Amino acid sequence: MTADQAVRPGTGAADLAARAAAVLPGGVSSNVRLATARTFFERGSGPRLWDVDGNEYVDYLLGQGPAFLGHAHPQVNGAVTTAVGRGMVFGAQHALEVEAVEKLLAAVGWADMARLGVSGTEAVHAALRLARAATGRRKMIGFAGQYHGWLDTVLMAHGPDGHRPGSAGQPPQYLADWVVAPFNDAEAVQRCFEEHPGEIAAVIIEPMMCNSGAIAPRPGFLARLRELCTAHGAVLIFDEVVTGFRLAFGGAAQRFGVTPDLALYGKAVAGGWPVAAIAGRRELLELFGTGKVNHSGTFNASVMAAAAVSATMDVLRETPPYVSVEEHGTALMTGLRGIGERHGVPLHVQGLPAAFHVSFRAEGAPPTDVVDHASLQSLDLARYTRFSRTLTTHGIWVAGRGIWYVSAAHGPAELADALERFDRALAAHVA
Ligand code: PLP
Repeated sequence: MTADQAVRPGTGAADLAARAAAVLPGGVSSNVRLATARTFFERGSGPRLWDVDGNEYVDYLLGQGPAFLGHAHPQVNGAVTTAVGRGMVFGAQHALEVEAVEKLLAAVGWADMARLGVSGTEAVHAALRLARAATGRRKMIGFAGQYHGWLDTVLMAHGPDGHRPGSAGQPPQYLADWVVAPFNDAEAVQRCFEEHPGEIAAVIIEPMMCNSGAIAPRPGFLARLRELCTAHGAVLIFDEVVTGFRLAFGGAAQRFGVTPDLALYGKAVAGGWPVAAIAGRRELLELFGTGKVNHSGTFNASVMAAAAVSATMDVLRETPPYVSVEEHGTALMTGLRGIGERHGVPLHVQGLPAAFHVSFRAEGAPPTDVVDHASLQSLDLARYTRFSRTLTTHGIWVAGRGIWYVSAAHGPAELADALERFDRALAAHVA
């Protein structure tokens, strides 16, 4: 794509959208994609995507996070292809699953054991069940604005007036199991424990909140959660489905120096292959091992899953991308802020270089630091959602909710293209 070109809609996507609408509810296979139902990609390679009409995009969505190594990573895909040539599911153990989990545990550093599953939602579900079984308690402390998956036990909507089931058909009684605190507010968490003595099985937290803005924990916040869980006999669960292997090889636990009892991994754990993992302390994970707590799955630790995790761990260990991701993300965040200033647009860019959030401040509002779900609402999120469509038509593939993910594959060419396209998109937006 040259500098003056925008994405040209073509008949390929229009035809597919019409066919999809007839056979896929909403034209999509995941409700998260309802907003992008008319976009059809043909292929991805490294940090770029091409749609069915031949348009090219710099990708900062990365499939909602999994393509941390870039699309179609040759070493990971090569390992999977070789492995599946010998079969894919055995209903029994195989050497690759042991190897994959050994490598995963070496990366994570603090955990004794792990199991591989298929989706992040399931891994969260398994962790909550383990915590309940280990403590004999039922309630969970969670944080407003977080997302842990779509199942009844974990889905909720966060509004200014409180928390409610996140979906029609979800029995409202599941909400009664949740005690919800604001992110970054350790005193509120302490009050939750005091108001529900002996009832809290676990605190579950995205150690950096990436499902509502991109909000890093305040210094000392996670450490205080650790203390509170230890003091009250509750399990500390880090939902690292987004942050795992992205913020550091050892995830957010390493980056922020706080050790949970259980952690969930997904997305970046397998270079784009559908794998999730639950890792943690031996005495908790062994509740699966003794059969006391049920955790099952036909496709758990399939050959392709194990091969993908093993190869992804090799790539991340042998060629750590963390410095380049940090440099790319830092330059991108600085560049986007500069473009906003040049256009006189109150752009809000916040987060860490590997995962940051872009939005607009409300007209006339001073610069602000978003610390939780409530303060996020001070931004003009709807304006950014509209602008994200303009970004897409200028060849930058991003989420409407404002999160930008940087991959190991993004380099100087993507930085230059992204800044130049963002500049033109913002000019079109304000015109
Ligand atoms: N936890 C977090 C923090 C997530 O962001 C997500 C998905 O985006 C999940 C859990 C659920 O993972 P999955 O979509 O693989 O079920």
